[in-house]
Amino acid sequence: MADEVKSKFVYERTSSWKNISDSGRKKIEHFADDYKGFMNHCKTERLCVRYLEKDARKLGFKDISEAKPEPGERILFRNENKNLMLVILGKKDIAKGLNFIASHLDSPRLDLKPMPLIEENSLAMMKTHYYGGIKKYQWVNLPLSLHGVVVRKDGSAVDISIGEGDNDPVFTINDLLPHLSRKVQGEKKLLEGIEGENLTLIVGSIPCEEKEIKDKVKDTVLGILNELYGMIEEDFVSAEIEVVPALKAKDIGFDRSMIGAYGHDDRACSYPAYRSIVDFEGVPEKTICALLVDKEEIGSFGISGIRSKFFTHSVMRLQELYGKECGGANLRDIFENSFCISGDVGGVVDPMYTQVNDLYNSAKLGFGVIIEKYTGSGGKSGASDASAEYMGKIRKIFNDNNIVWQPGTLGKVDEGGGGTVALYVADLGIKVVDCGVGVLGMHSPYEVVCKADLFQTYQAYLSFLKDA
Ligand code: MN
Ligand code: MN
Repeated sequence: MADEVKSKFVYERTSSWKNISDSGRKKIEHFADDYKGFMNHCKTERLCVRYLEKDARKLGFKDISEAKPEPGERILFRNENKNLMLVILGKKDIAKGLNFIASHLDSPRLDLKPMPLIEENSLAMMKTHYYGGIKKYQWVNLPLSLHGVVVRKDGSAVDISIGEGDNDPVFTINDLLPHLSRKVQGEKKLLEGIEGENLTLIVGSIPCEEKEIKDKVKDTVLGILNELYGMIEEDFVSAEIEVVPALKAKDIGFDRSMIGAYGHDDRACSYPAYRSIVDFEGVPEKTICALLVDKEEIGSFGISGIRSKFFTHSVMRLQELYGKECGGANLRDIFENSFCISGDVGGVVDPMYTQVNDLYNSAKLGFGVIIEKYTGSGGKSGASDASAEYMGKIRKIFNDNNIVWQPGTLGKVDEGGGGTVALYVADLGIKVVDCGVGVLGMHSPYEVVCKADLFQTYQAYLSFLKDA
């Protein structure tokens, strides 16, 4: 059969599986295996930072106090146990700027409230407050695990991590049985069917023996918590405990081409960002960096969000390392000469709901790393909107390095929208554009990515960091 005649003028998306050799497929699978291992260990931003910092130190990244201002030096900054910034010093003067990838480690989830433990009708339960944009009805009747830290009365901290091991108990949020939910839920709109205050975990059912104690089941649970973690109820006030799906990252499909996992947004970008730095071979021309932040899902506020001074202060510390005057004109030069990829995931066409997309402009699963000129909503509001010049630069880097990429937008005009960290990077006077992996079922407890897209994103980030 004759090939369809192709115009040399027309743009077409290319499958990221096209012309993959056996060795190419092996590389994709190998990277996917590493990623699944990371995902199974790292369900929270704290766990990500701990895991990646440990790995980076093994690979020669050191604190700035031990670093020398020499090309190839590998330096690590950590902030609040929730941000990690990895730097490799380049051959060029730091005043020539950085090539860096900014990406987030936090994912939508439920957080325990400051006073979470209650007893209702002889069941011990824990109250939560959701974090980020979730569809609440997706979080019921799932196995859930708890991860975080409790700072006890004496000031000592203890980690909590329960629900991932094969013999660990898990927790769950009960939904009402269909037999009785016709009125109380059935007459509501879908997104209001499960209310935030009802996202309450079941955590125990055995009453204690003490006759005088009112909440006997709650007391049993507190006794167990005291035994396991040496904590009392008041300690919850100084705790951060995140409730996440106790689900393992798995291959999806007969062809095993996809990965299902909790937290692809944004670990499907922050992991490739991390790997593109630590796997970087040789000495880069410009100083390169991966900036892994927290709090993106709730607006990037706070001391561990990208709006904090962590990045700026870390760059100032690099200036100090070179014996330069900190801040001022020197810092301005660095920022003005820097280039950033905001490594965040993008939405892809869901074949069952194509009506929300402009199919000419929407990204598709399996068609490479997404370049998103703008995000935002309602007339691009809140978008940093990368310039034609910067889009041209990034597109050329990707084309020169045979990266499979595709343009993307988040849905039809006025359908909805969203944002990333890009606008806060742009605020510093740094050119930035969103580039990342396409995700199906974004913000759900079990999101889906394509392995070949994940690998293309890693390759795309590497090519960007290499650019002089
Ligand atoms: Mn994201
Ligand atoms: Mn998100």
